[in-house]
Amino acid sequence: MTRYCPDCKQDKPVGAFGVNRARPDGIGPYCKRCNCNRVQRFRDGKLRPQSGPYDDGPTMADVRRVERAGAARYHAAAARLAATTAGVRPVRGVQ
Ligand SMILES: [Zn+2]
Repeated sequence: MTRYCPDCKQDKPVGAFGVNRARPDGIGPYCKRCNCNRVQRFRDGKLRPQSGPYDDGPTMADVRRVERAGAARYHAAAARLAATTAGVRPVRGVQ
């Protein structure tokens, strides 16, 4: 007996699927491997709870993460610049 996994789009033996007592057949909708990946992606903020198996686009969490990374790079560069110019004093007599 096999079951279709809509995430990896493969027919797999029922044993490859997890148990889900909330569903009428008692078997999870995705195979164990895909379910594991989906949980990981959900924790990473890449998967919205209401998204289907084919919705893989970026979320606001991705946008915010990229913005934070950009801001961190800017502040690191500004700190390096401040450190290298900290001891520099204007030279008297130079116009
Ligand atoms: Zn799968």
